[in-house]
Parts: sequence; C-alpha cells; structure tokens
Amino acid sequence: MRFLAFLILLSSLLFSLNFEVSDTSIENGRTSLFEFKKEKGLEYKKLKLGKKSFNVYDNPLDNSKMYALLPVSYYEKPKNETLKIIYVQNSKTKTKNIVIEIKDGNYKKESIQVTKSKVNPKGEEVNERINKEYHEAMNIYATSTKKNYLSSEFILPMDSFITSDFGKARVYNDTLKGYHSGTDFRAKVGTPIISSNDGVVVLAKDRFYSGGTVIVDHGQGIYTCYYHMSAFSVTLGQKIYKGEELGLSGASGRVTGPHLHFSVRVGGVQVDPLQFVKLMNKNILTKEI
Ligand SMILES: [Zn+2]
Repeated sequence: MRFLAFLILLSSLLFSLNFEVSDTSIENGRTSLFEFKKEKGLEYKKLKLGKKSFNVYDNPLDNSKMYALLPVSYYEKPKNETLKIIYVQNSKTKTKNIVIEIKDGNYKKESIQVTKSKVNPKGEEVNERINKEYHEAMNIYATSTKKNYLSSEFILPMDSFITSDFGKARVYNDTLKGYHSGTDFRAKVGTPIISSNDGVVVLAKDRFYSGGTVIVDHGQGIYTCYYHMSAFSVTLGQKIYKGEELGLSGASGRVTGPHLHFSVRVGGVQVDPLQFVKLMNKNILTKEI
C-alpha cells in the first residue's frame, strides 16, 4: 500500500504537460503562441488570462499537434499575470498555471491639442451609424469557427512601403484617445489589394471611419481587415484564396490621403499584424521537409 502511494506520488511529480510557448514575456498589442503535443487520454481545452479565454485548436498542418494564440490587448498595463492552461486528463478537468509577463510595447506617441468642440463634432445620425458599424464588426470578431482555412503562410496584402506602423498612440489634450490599430501601406488610388491568406469574406461594405472595408475570416478566430478601399472585387460570403484580389485601394472613410490600412484580429483582440504574420508563418504554417 505504501509502495502504491509512492508510485502515485512519483508519477504525479514526473507528469508534465508537453507544450512549447513562443514567449512568456509579451508586449501589449502583440501575440504569443502555444503549441501542444497531442497525447492519449489528454485533451487541451483553452487558455485563460484574466477574464479572457482563448481556444486550443488543431494545428492546420500537423495533426500530431494543437495550438492556441494568446493575443494581448494594446490597453493592457505592464504586469505579471497567471495564465491558466485548461485541459482534461482521464475525464477530469485540470489547470496548469504559468506566469506571463506583460511588457510595455513602448509605442510612439502622437500628441494633439484640440479645442473640446472639435473632439466630437458628429451629429446624432452619424454617431448612430458609427455605433452600428462598431457592433457589427465586434460580432464578427467574437465568432470563432473550429474550421480553419489555412494551408500555407500569410502574405502581405500588397508589395509597397509601410508608411505607419501598428501601435502609435493618439493623445488628444493629454488623454489617450486611441492608437493606430493596423499597418499602413503606401498605395495610390486603384492599386490592387490581395487577400493575405485563404478564408471567407465576412464583410464587404462602406463604413464611416474605415471607408471601403473587407474583412476575411481565416477560421479559428483569425481575421484580416483591409480599409479605405475604392472598389470591391469580392462579395459577402465568398470563399477567397491567398493572393486573390479583394479590390482596389483608395482614400475612403476618415483619411488624410490614399493608403491601405491592414489589420488583424485574433480571438477578438486587435494585434500587431506584422508580428502576428511572422509568428504564424514561422511556427504554424511552415511545413517541415
Ligand atoms: Zn492605418
């Protein structure tokens, strides 16, 4: 009996989850990646960080593995936080805690002093439209399908210069009013924009702030967004393949000049698109030969 107790103690000491994490120290606005090795009798369920939880999905290219993305909101403050890995082993739900460090991304700041009346000069009708468009987008981003459409690396939506990086803080009258939520590419009106990867068009319409907008669902809670377009080549619900034309760039919506604004949402969280693309391409979407 004593020997059996010893064996149980020993096996629980020796048992450890088989996973890899790209980074336990993450800057706000950036994404970390967990990869889990599939094992008999063990099922990985989700990651929980604070009130947010993120699903564990099948790896699209390697059926011996699963993965989960951990996007950190831009508005998170630097701190150490406990991340819970929820899994089921022998029909029992268990938790493994690890400590995640959230770091300051040290993004640039753009300070603007304006008179109060100019901060919100819009009428009721426009505010209603903005509100409706916001909720429509949030409903899309809150949806995550188990199915994924990814079979190879992400590509950039056009071959051009980057004119504005993700993350620059917009400070109006000393108050943080927002940040640059995507990456801007120089593009004169009429430049073709291509889909960054395979997916389904879940929004293609004109919006107040983002102008001509296309959102592509890549499955498993991953979305890419294309703003300020002047023409669409796709329609709502259309299956799209990587490199296919979504439409033409423009200067629609609230802009100072023509460009493409490219952004990414993961598990409902807006993240640095270029860091996300690199992370996925390096770890998940590259086939080992
Ligand atoms: Zn932009």
